[in-house]
Amino acid sequence: MSDGGRGTQRAATRAGLDVAGLRGEFPIFAAMGPRFHYLDNAATGQICRAAAETLVDFETRARANVKRGVYRLADEATRAFEEARARIAGYLGAREAREVVITSGTTHALNLAAHTLCARLHPGDEILLTCAEHHSNIVPWQLAGRRAGAVIRAVPLAEDGRLDLDRLEALVSRRTKVVAATHCSNVTGALTDIGRLAEAARAVGAVLVVDGAQRAPHGPLDVQALGCDLYAFSGHKVFAATGAGALWIRGELADELPPFMGGGEMIRRVTLEASTFAPPPHRFEAGTPPIGPALALGAAVAWLAGLDWPAIHAHEQRLLERLLEGLRTIRGLRLLGPADTRARAPLVSFLVEGVHPHDVCQLLDAFGVCTRGGHHCAQPLHEALGAEASVRASIALYNDDADIDALLAGLEEVVRRLA
Ligand code: PMP
Repeated sequence: MSDGGRGTQRAATRAGLDVAGLRGEFPIFAAMGPRFHYLDNAATGQICRAAAETLVDFETRARANVKRGVYRLADEATRAFEEARARIAGYLGAREAREVVITSGTTHALNLAAHTLCARLHPGDEILLTCAEHHSNIVPWQLAGRRAGAVIRAVPLAEDGRLDLDRLEALVSRRTKVVAATHCSNVTGALTDIGRLAEAARAVGAVLVVDGAQRAPHGPLDVQALGCDLYAFSGHKVFAATGAGALWIRGELADELPPFMGGGEMIRRVTLEASTFAPPPHRFEAGTPPIGPALALGAAVAWLAGLDWPAIHAHEQRLLERLLEGLRTIRGLRLLGPADTRARAPLVSFLVEGVHPHDVCQLLDAFGVCTRGGHHCAQPLHEALGAEASVRASIALYNDDADIDALLAGLEEVVRRLA
């Protein structure tokens, strides 16, 4: 692709966002050159300069373990780690930094949530999921729920590919102790009406856990206003390093919950017979945390928090519309989930009739286009949508018209050659 394609960024610049400037904050784009169209952001985002520099700086100039040293370097590391926690709390809109537990990512966070919440369940209690969940928000509930004898139920899909929340009344009862739902589907991009789930959960005294992995890269959050009790997300999807994420737990609830893993730094006192535990968040952070990645996460969200999100949302939605419009003109292509751009993150999954998603992705790679093919760790959702697997294109703040156009041109070629 010629450099000219990137000239289309200027249209977005006129709309108030300097996309070229944003791309410049991500070292990978200079390294890969112009024929690199990264549309696999739902799997992992590219690392921003602020996060990359923070990570390297810690590992090469400031490395020490946290929470336990009394010398200056260790004290500095602990201070930086707690500062990162505070920055994450700010991004989430948490009341206090102590409500944020540093995890290795969303999967760890949801396993922590399931383990500690299910410790309070009794046989016959119910956990309400949705059929749009990533396996990370299904399997932990199955594992921990089974130990407690709890029953799993799920909100089904409506005709339009969104969750059928009109079924909530029939699904939620006094037996419901936990509701766990994704904020945004990693297959269809559909945003869940968390407020409605919160109302239903609150009415029966259930705890609401939200998987925010796909929502967190699209701007700062307000967990208080959302009305949930726990919120999980991954650092690598919000343009930080792999290896760190976070779980927000509402303060009063965190105080009541038992630990997940046992080990160093999560205790108050240990004897050979029994232990007492540190208050949150340390109770949930056994062992050495992912210090460098957590600092990088703090740097990434601090940088993200300072961006012009109304302009970024407009940019992402414009790219999504351009993509949907283009996809609709391609013969033999089937979109999964909602067909409109209403209440949806900028990601799309689709099928090319007669061509396996892996073959589609492989051919797109020849055009410099990175997409993902498979079930995206959401087999129940694919089943509900009547598909085994799909191709997913997911947009982030640094994508531009050239990325969308390269994908569409590649798909035309896929259809011409294979379909
Ligand atoms: N939930 C959702 C909705 C996701 O998209 C993902 C990542 N694909 C996860 C959970 C798991 O995230 P991680 O692998 O970072 O733990």
